[in-house]
Amino acid sequence: MAEKELAATAIRWFDENARDLPWREPDVGAWAILVSEVMLQQTPVVRVLPAWRAWLARWPVPAALAADPPAEAIRMWGRLGYPRRALRLRECAVAIVERHGGQVPTQLDELLALPGVGTYTARAVAAFAYGQRHPVVDTNVRRLVARAVAGEPDAGPATRPADLVATAELLPVEPARAARASAAFMELGALVCVARAPRCVDCPLASMCAWRASGRTAPVGPTRRPQRYAGTDRQVRGMLLAVLRETTGPVHRDRLDLVWDDDAQRARALAGLVDDGLVEPVGEAYVLAGDRHLADRRIPGPRLAAGPEAGVDPV
Ligand code: SF4
Repeated sequence: MAEKELAATAIRWFDENARDLPWREPDVGAWAILVSEVMLQQTPVVRVLPAWRAWLARWPVPAALAADPPAEAIRMWGRLGYPRRALRLRECAVAIVERHGGQVPTQLDELLALPGVGTYTARAVAAFAYGQRHPVVDTNVRRLVARAVAGEPDAGPATRPADLVATAELLPVEPARAARASAAFMELGALVCVARAPRCVDCPLASMCAWRASGRTAPVGPTRRPQRYAGTDRQVRGMLLAVLRETTGPVHRDRLDLVWDDDAQRARALAGLVDDGLVEPVGEAYVLAGDRHLADRRIPGPRLAAGPEAGVDPV
């Protein structure tokens, strides 16, 4: 298989089929792209779109976010889920201000040194914001490369250095084309070469795909079972955090006790939120991180019976 042909074919397909997403607009800056990449890691596009717009309307540059307390980031994160990302994004904004004068750095090693920015995110920003040639490897790309190049039905559970090497070898030499190819691979993996039932009949890479050529055309099984959510500590954390997020100031423990009947599970979930730095205890009450200065306000007692319909996020 001609590897450059694979990239060229993917780019042609991407030119005609890419989703019209705002963070792909040519005038979008590195900060907006960084925010989108963090939000998209564990949240579907449709939920990220309004949150991304609201986040950037409020904090169009890293310095704006860095100037606000962590609690505001947690509130703005709303129901995107996994709210530790909000804290990490704010820490990242602070580091960008302190180390880089408020500008998202351009060099990969500088990006990798930012809080909360890992292998994937750093390369995504370098490629999509600055047009550099780096392999951008997420779950979708690993699956696509495993099938099309290695002839394997799926990739392993975690990104390995070998995945970066395998993907880098597919990229065109010219940096802007390489970045475009990375975006194309991601889109193909997300829309066509999907985990459970790859749409090989619609795939532009079908004629050069090693997995398809091997004759194993039956859909592969799910790579992982859907995670149970109802009744988990994550659900309880989400319910507790929703009460705190929707309250300005401290929330008395008695009020949080109304959120969930199981005392042990509720205590465990609350302790987890504190350990993660999302919530701070203030006497018999709790505040979102950074809201301790509000603790001298009157602490309201129990009044809100938060049921399962209250903000329930994966936390
Ligand atoms: S032909 Fe099928 S398995 Fe191969 S890359 Fe395309 S969708 Fe994936």
